[in-house]
Amino acid sequence: MTTFAQLGLPYPLVHTLSGAGVTEPFPIQAAVIPDALAGRDISGRAPTGSGKTLAFGLPLLVRVSRAKPGRPRALILAPTRELAEQISAELAPLATPMARQVTAIYGGVAYGPQKNALRRGVDVLVATPGRLEDLIAQGTLALDEVEIVVIDEADRMADMGFLPAVRRIVGATCQQRQTMMFSATLDSEAAALSHQYQRNAVLHEVVAIGAQTGQVQHVFWRVDEHDRVEHVAGLIERNGRAIAFTRTRRRADRLAKQLGLLGISSVALHGGRTQAQRTKALAAFASGRVQAMVATDVAARGIHIEAVAMVIQVDLAADAKSYLHRAGRTARAGADGTVVSLIAGSEEREVLRMQKQLQMRTPIVAPTRELPVRKGSSSSVRTEVETKGVAPQPQTAEEQSLYVSNLPWEVTAHELGELFSQYGKVNQTTIVTHRNGRSRGFGFVNMHALAAPKAIDGLHGAHLNGRPLTVRPARQVA
Ligand code: ADP
Ligand code: MG
Repeated sequence: MTTFAQLGLPYPLVHTLSGAGVTEPFPIQAAVIPDALAGRDISGRAPTGSGKTLAFGLPLLVRVSRAKPGRPRALILAPTRELAEQISAELAPLATPMARQVTAIYGGVAYGPQKNALRRGVDVLVATPGRLEDLIAQGTLALDEVEIVVIDEADRMADMGFLPAVRRIVGATCQQRQTMMFSATLDSEAAALSHQYQRNAVLHEVVAIGAQTGQVQHVFWRVDEHDRVEHVAGLIERNGRAIAFTRTRRRADRLAKQLGLLGISSVALHGGRTQAQRTKALAAFASGRVQAMVATDVAARGIHIEAVAMVIQVDLAADAKSYLHRAGRTARAGADGTVVSLIAGSEEREVLRMQKQLQMRTPIVAPTRELPVRKGSSSSVRTEVETKGVAPQPQTAEEQSLYVSNLPWEVTAHELGELFSQYGKVNQTTIVTHRNGRSRGFGFVNMHALAAPKAIDGLHGAHLNGRPLTVRPARQVA
């Protein structure tokens, strides 16, 4: 096991971390910290909860110099005040042994304390874009001495309409700076930001797949069109919180209302609601105040929803990709999860077609009172590392690396992992990307050597979004 010290972090940080029980770097940290310490620009993609804050925060605390009053040296941009506060709270105790000062500024609270702190001097400023520009306009601070910039949750920033502000802000920082960017997806907007503001960025991508390996169970229930709501209510009553997906905004609103009539509290999340409404809905669900979140696909993709034990596909997913996205909301971080799809008679053929695409053979059955209990081991979360275009070395003799090509560009490593995991335990998946984050259409899957031939058999030539896949054993680099 690698330690934080081996990654190049100094003793005071390592010591403070271990005092807080943090001794083993998470994979994104092991990947990012050495490059960040070397001053490289970093473009990072990793799922929620993978430890991105320390990945950028620790090297930042090592490299940041002391600030003069009103002239911060490092800037961490976050989309929401909750996140800004969280980052600041996590880094503050680590800044102390490094003799650095961390402060968060965000809107919705009084100016006084934030201004006073800035006047005294803040080395590391964590900020939401709005309040930051506000205070700059008031002359409280300037960014010309900022040498390290972190854009956290770049995709959420884009969703919330912050990119123009982010551009103005980054443009006002020192030319010779280090820029780190993190995002759950590296879509075109995030890629454009990277392109514009980063130099020779190292791309680090970490995808948790172990949690989905053999732990998500997929259930298909044949239901009567007008019983859908009762089934959703019953499932939540018996099994607890869930995210329920519908195809349209109207159906989401209607389902939320109908659930309420059946005594299930819920919130609706879709593109027709304002940002404030969405934030409120998310908070209500995240805090457990309501039992269900009813969401459309688009809404669910753009934002950040904590994983839940159960996903209900109330309306059939539009396609296989959407099915996987929805299913991906469950069984994170080693917990088990169930995905229940409610299927009306007229949809059966579509379901079979989708299952075939996903190489899935799950019978559509009559609803049961209890969900079937999953047997099998819970595998730990493993990751994939940097995308360099070479097959990751198998870690053990029982592991085989497979080369997969002709992938549709939009397929994620997560989806690739799902696809292969029906044949056996998948340890690591990699999608090889261009520097701008776009997929090159090929990748690697490391899986159990005994399962690999079965996966080749089952998936070589199989169609994914209409394209026949190539799957063969990967050549290893010596
Ligand atoms: P992300 O930003 O990727 O969503 P965070 O940085 O917020 O994730 O980390 C998620 C949680 O994991 C936090 O509570 C954090 O304190 C904890 N954590 C991060 N790194 C480690 C580690 N190496 N060992 C143990 N816990 C960690
Ligand atoms: Mg984070």
